[in-house]
Amino acid sequence: MRKHIFNAGPCKLSDRTLENTARAVLELDDNGQSVMEVSHRSPEFEAVIDETKALMHEVMNIPDDFEILFLGGGASMQFAMIPYNFLQGKAFYLDTGTWSTKAIKEAALWGDVIEVSSEDKGFTYIPKGYDIPADADYAHITTNNTIKGTEIMEDMDSPVPLMADMSSDFMSRPVDFSKYAMVYGGAQKNVGPAGATFVIIRKSMLDKVVDRPIPTMLKYKTHVDKDSMFNTPPCVNIFAIRETCKWVKEMGGVEAMDKLAQHRADTLYNAIDESNMFKGTVAKEDRSRMNICFVFEDKYEGLQKDFLSFSSDRNIIGIKGHRSVGGFRASTYNACTMDDVNALVKAMKDFEKENA
Ligand code: PLP
Repeated sequence: MRKHIFNAGPCKLSDRTLENTARAVLELDDNGQSVMEVSHRSPEFEAVIDETKALMHEVMNIPDDFEILFLGGGASMQFAMIPYNFLQGKAFYLDTGTWSTKAIKEAALWGDVIEVSSEDKGFTYIPKGYDIPADADYAHITTNNTIKGTEIMEDMDSPVPLMADMSSDFMSRPVDFSKYAMVYGGAQKNVGPAGATFVIIRKSMLDKVVDRPIPTMLKYKTHVDKDSMFNTPPCVNIFAIRETCKWVKEMGGVEAMDKLAQHRADTLYNAIDESNMFKGTVAKEDRSRMNICFVFEDKYEGLQKDFLSFSSDRNIIGIKGHRSVGGFRASTYNACTMDDVNALVKAMKDFEKENA
């Protein structure tokens, strides 16, 4: 029996992704070899990666002047690659929590960081009404803050190239790529299993690369020129991403994902707001649809472990909050169903009835 999986990433994937990837691990398209065994330079695998990119272009409506790369190193490697390639003078960073703080640390190695932060209130809101300096090399935002549970839903205007870490909300809503120079993320939320990083970069950004020695593997140009095949790409992961893109398309595209994300989040936040036992942790207008963070009202704090085991007895897993926030976090990525959400809401209500 499938559990109700609310893990923050790696996380629940669609049945289609799991079943077809499992099949391809045994044999890829009647080829007599596994997707783990096939050469990444073979026509069979080329067809897989080409179709994956084409599907991602289609599903996310990515214009042709962007290149899609599948790299290793996680989103964390991008924290370093972005400034290594593009930061000469100063860059603007919006600091909205743990992951953007890590990105800033890397950027500071290469230039000045102009920062606007919500740290003053424990990253419980998204800063607003700030100016991005027009002489910055680029601006960097984290659209969904997986740990703190806030999200930027708007594709904002920026006077300088805008780079977005979309690790935890990519493919959950349509994105207006005209606003971005680069969008990237670890695949392990809405896109596929852990091990591949998607980088969607505007080709003209290659003209803006800083004139400094950059190791070959850390240059975007290397990977663009070689079509993500400079070194051996994460083949199985790319196959799984293809299946996820097919699933999203079958489900009605990213517009359908958007509606489902809203429905899941509304249902859970309503349950939190109606409860006298649980409360949310962030400003309501900035609440994430992907990572729903909540805690006990003070007088129930001692019941934390009890609620986790109460939920676990109902096959609900992955709801323990990140250690830096505490409480609970339900990650409701694309493959999370209303059945999963309703099971959690029922557990919250039943627990409250029994313990309040
Ligand atoms: N950025 C965000 C928003 C994340 O949620 C994560 C991981 O959860 C990362 C970056 C780091 O990704 P990776 O583990 O692929 O380096």
